[in-house]
Amino acid sequence: MSGHLMGVYNRAPLAFERGEGARLYGTNGQVYLDCVGGIATDALGHCNPVLVKALTEQANKLWHISNIYQIPGQEELADKLVANSFADVVFFTNSGTEAVECALKTCRKFHSANGADPAKIDIIGFDGSFHGRTYAAVNAAGNPSYTDGFGPRLPGYSQCKFGDMEMLESMMGPNTAGIIIEPVQGEGGARAVSDADLRKMRELCDKWGALLIFDEVQSGMGRTGKLWAHEWSGVTPDIMAIAKALGGGFPIGACLATSEAAKGMIVGAHGSTFGGNPLAMAVGIASFNEINSKKILDNVNEIAGYLNQQLTGLKDRFPDVIVDIRGKGLLVGVKLIPNNREFMAIAREHNLLVAGGGDNLVRLLPPLNLTLDEAREAIQKFEQACETARAKAAA
Ligand SMILES: *Cc1c(COP(=O)(O)O)cnc(C)c1O
Repeated sequence: MSGHLMGVYNRAPLAFERGEGARLYGTNGQVYLDCVGGIATDALGHCNPVLVKALTEQANKLWHISNIYQIPGQEELADKLVANSFADVVFFTNSGTEAVECALKTCRKFHSANGADPAKIDIIGFDGSFHGRTYAAVNAAGNPSYTDGFGPRLPGYSQCKFGDMEMLESMMGPNTAGIIIEPVQGEGGARAVSDADLRKMRELCDKWGALLIFDEVQSGMGRTGKLWAHEWSGVTPDIMAIAKALGGGFPIGACLATSEAAKGMIVGAHGSTFGGNPLAMAVGIASFNEINSKKILDNVNEIAGYLNQQLTGLKDRFPDVIVDIRGKGLLVGVKLIPNNREFMAIAREHNLLVAGGGDNLVRLLPPLNLTLDEAREAIQKFEQACETARAKAAA
């Protein structure tokens, strides 16, 4: 290692030279089963031929121009997103945090465009949430590890206790501009918000003229077995941030909104140099078409059911290792007794890659087209990791 990278990551001592489907080939000669998927991003597996084709074909035509011109790929992908969601309009970004940033700005701008009291800027988030790393995103999530040392907290952001609807009710008022929540928390602990709580949030937003923002950067694009996680509840937001799986591993994000909620986002209100460039759109369209299919969504539900059942079995057999199975669909959280980072290293020894998560979790975020055989193998390896963790604790 050169030592010239900012030390913001605690990286595993592992590099890869190639990937194919759910397999990653390490520079150490080992082959791994990848249940990290670039953190819920490589939703169709590594080097999916459909995406490789879309990328290379577009790469030979045109990569980047600018949003000062029309970009037909943006219109095509926006049409698809709108046809399959609550939304009317879309803004394309390069990442999840930029999609969240756009969502928060769209929300505040809505009230300003309505001529609301300038004090109507308050955005309520929840503890344990993660919205990305821009100033607005870290302030919306309020996790002290991500806000400390970066100067004063931005005004107008506060957090409610996860699942405490009485507290939420008491926090809301005429100055509430919006609520932001992940329908299924990702980084913070793979906690799914109950349908009743989502309904309550919708009701409170309507009561106070506030907007409901869903951060589906991780839970969206098929991850939970429906295209959007919020579909399970029947509640629709006014604004939604998506990213991760949207590009199947290519950096793309998007902020979706109803035309009413986006009424303040007029010419000049927002922008991006790279956002929505032709290369990103070509891959995004191909990825969206693949993921938004009965075949993939059925597979997610089937594999998720299998993993959940098997992991619950492992929890019964290894109560000294596993405390809880959480999440939804293929956003699987396993709360552990041994330190999660140590467990991730043990899993690597068994050629299984799993992600970490808040609340001492490991997460399984495999590709949405994981086969049943691969899922069986993941469980076998997870079981071996549990055995090793147990032996280490006894030693
Ligand atoms: C990953 C994530 C983000 C941030 O996305 P980046 O692409 O890392 O900026 C925001 N919200 C949620 C829910 C995420 O999981």
